[in-house]
Amino acid sequence: AVYLSGFKKTKDSMGQKLNDMAYKYKGINDEFLEELTIVLLESDVGIETADEICERLKRKAQQYSTITFRYAMSFLMEILQDLYNETPSPELEYPHEINVIFLVGVNGSGKTTSCAKLIRYFKDQGKSVGVVAADTFRAGAIDQLARWADKLGVTCIKGKEQSDPSSVLVDGCRWAKENKIDILLCDTAGRLQNKQNLMNELAKMHRVVGREIEGAPHHVWLVLDSTTGQNGLSQAKIFQEATNVSGIILSKMDGTAKGGIVLAIKNILHIPVYFIGLGEKETDLRPFDLDSYLYSISE
Ligand code: GDP
Repeated sequence: AVYLSGFKKTKDSMGQKLNDMAYKYKGINDEFLEELTIVLLESDVGIETADEICERLKRKAQQYSTITFRYAMSFLMEILQDLYNETPSPELEYPHEINVIFLVGVNGSGKTTSCAKLIRYFKDQGKSVGVVAADTFRAGAIDQLARWADKLGVTCIKGKEQSDPSSVLVDGCRWAKENKIDILLCDTAGRLQNKQNLMNELAKMHRVVGREIEGAPHHVWLVLDSTTGQNGLSQAKIFQEATNVSGIILSKMDGTAKGGIVLAIKNILHIPVYFIGLGEKETDLRPFDLDSYLYSISE
């Protein structure tokens, strides 16, 4: 029930629309598939993934002479589950002495806020946490993160605005080693003016932390604003090409009914969604849970 709140809007729209179809269709036919495609597109599943879903549903339906709407829905849920599970979602683990996590994403995606939410998340698990304000690009990002850190009672390692993020990252790593910190969260800048530039910047950040702490960064999470829909997806592609994104934090799910983006991310980018953001507070973060997600669509 707690998780479900994250998909309330998805439930109210995609779930509701699918339910409404029950009154119109006795089974799967062309009109059904057409309307299903529209519902999927309206919830940001994307055309490629929507077509794939409909194609699979059609194939499944062909095995039966008649099929009730309820069965059609249960087939649909099976297909969505398969589609989701075809890309593995490795369990999140933090086995290193210091686990370095990079947060990447464009300005305004909710990176800094997600960083605050993660501080809270890890602290609640009893881990020691530090943050590095390496987003030296966006004006105010450093202060914003420092304020969160203060409020949440963790140390924030910071440099000056417009300074080289790599130097503050090195400071952060050294501080984490001295203080035996379990989790080091790094809020990095994602300047998207061109891919080459982004690639160079991220590569440099990887190099410097890798020199300080073996294997670091251990996780690279891309913060994606769920309200930007398919646009967000193309941004994600650029980041994916520029660096080894290992997971997605889908922010602002409280503000959108377009929960279908989760499926598009999995199907197109093959990156697991690990967390969803549900508001502006530090407590507004939930681990992504496939069952509650599917439940919100089907019930
Ligand atoms: P950054 O530029 O990527 O660091 O973005 P911020 O963390 O500053 O977030 C941009 C705006 O989105 C801020 O006003 C945040 O309060 C807001 N925000 C971030 N995450 C969420 C979320 O999950 N839900 C809602 N409603 N707002 C969010």
